[in-house]
Amino acid sequence: MCSRAIVWFRNDLRLEENPAWASATANHDEVLPFVVQDLKLLASVGPFRRAQWVANVRALRVELEMLGGTLSVLSGDPSKHIPDLAREADALYYNEATSSWGRMRDAAVASLSPVPVSSSWGTLVSTPGTVLTAKGTLSKVFTPFARTWASTPRRADPVGGDASIVVTPIGTDKLLEVAEDPPMDPGNAGAHRMLDRWLDHVDQYAETRDLPAIPGTSALSAHLRFGTISPTTLLDAVGTATPGREAFVRQLAWRDWYAHLLVENPAMTRSALRPEYDAIEWRADPSGLEAWKKGRTGYPIVDAGMRQLATTGWMHNRVRMITASFLVKDLLIDWREGERWFRHLLVDGEPSQNVGNWQWVAGIGTDAAPYFRVFNPTTQSRKFDSSGDYIRRWVPELAYLDARAIHAPWEVAPLDLASAGVILGDTYPAPIVDHGHARDRALAAYKTALGKN
Ligand code: FAD
Repeated sequence: MCSRAIVWFRNDLRLEENPAWASATANHDEVLPFVVQDLKLLASVGPFRRAQWVANVRALRVELEMLGGTLSVLSGDPSKHIPDLAREADALYYNEATSSWGRMRDAAVASLSPVPVSSSWGTLVSTPGTVLTAKGTLSKVFTPFARTWASTPRRADPVGGDASIVVTPIGTDKLLEVAEDPPMDPGNAGAHRMLDRWLDHVDQYAETRDLPAIPGTSALSAHLRFGTISPTTLLDAVGTATPGREAFVRQLAWRDWYAHLLVENPAMTRSALRPEYDAIEWRADPSGLEAWKKGRTGYPIVDAGMRQLATTGWMHNRVRMITASFLVKDLLIDWREGERWFRHLLVDGEPSQNVGNWQWVAGIGTDAAPYFRVFNPTTQSRKFDSSGDYIRRWVPELAYLDARAIHAPWEVAPLDLASAGVILGDTYPAPIVDHGHARDRALAAYKTALGKN
């Protein structure tokens, strides 16, 4: 008798190096691939991620059609559809989620499934729970995690088989239509085109990765987020033959680490991993928050980053650190406000990476830098955007300031500002806080929370 598997695609929108897909096609005669579009969820995410998701699903459908099959689209709540769908099958396959919301959804679906459920870890290099300290725990500090991660033998993922793919889609639901183009070249083919280009640059990564004015990073994060390429494919393609390649692979270890942390600590989306920091008294400052979101803080590097985010759905990592630090330390606004805004707009926005990095910047999570280390946005700007070209691209009203002046227009003589067409408080905002004063205020708040006063 013909055995049939149903395969639920989520953040693994590819056929290549996809352990759930490989197991299903190896263990069954026929496979029925499907996605569930949660229209309520899609309505709540920002335009960039929504457009990218739709384009990636379309690309997956094309991949399946090229193999003689199709992709079914269901709309609504997975726990309502999947048990019915599973009644016509012998097994359900998917790759594990990392977010607490996703894991709860999967547990509900699994408990209702009339057939066996088989899950794999196709979205990470390493399986949570397998990269541990000698004491058998997940390291709270990144460097020892990365060392163990690099020396842990790779999981042996299953090899795919030759099951036939169901040709007729189930149901009549249509994939959501969106007006916007996706920010990134979509699908597995798009990811490979980007990877091929990146391989020409990766050897310089150690020198270029902190410079936002140039394309010195891979921009592959959205592909990793949607699983249109596997992190193991990247690892194998890049290797560690040069310092640039080593530095790039280390970033994949950060990604795994934050995912492992969230799987182990689902509450970290809401509270500090170091609970003592939950006592920080954040300021209510709606106009400061609004200025930050709009890129109108008066700090050019912060404004450039926030405008890049709002315009493209992506922001350079160094600038993510600077803008996040500005919100938390300079404005003393709750990190969860910033995390929500980033997650809404980022095309790669995703709870484990976003929350992990926000807690890292706020110094309230694991691998926390001492609380008294506060980024100075102007120093960071001078160091990492020394020419000012990144600022010029995103804050055009400052474009005629020279490389010395552009990082801190409030320090420039009014006549020089005027000759560059800048009127502070008019064509460009005056700084909304004084960094020195704000730094003292943040240190006091952190000290109070830690009982150090
Ligand atoms: P590359 O420099 O080319 O790095 C390669 C890959 O390594 C990235 O695609 C990413 O998957 C991983 N990586 C790189 N830096 C980090 C990092 N700091 N932490 C974890 N993984 C990393 N990344 C997301 O994918 N989703 C998010 O929601 C997200 N939110 C962030 C919020 C803040 C406040 C900060 C400081 C960083 C955040 N990052 C997030 C991490 C990082 O900024 C992006 O992954 C990176 O900028 C993506 O660009 P890239 O693909 O060119 O990275």
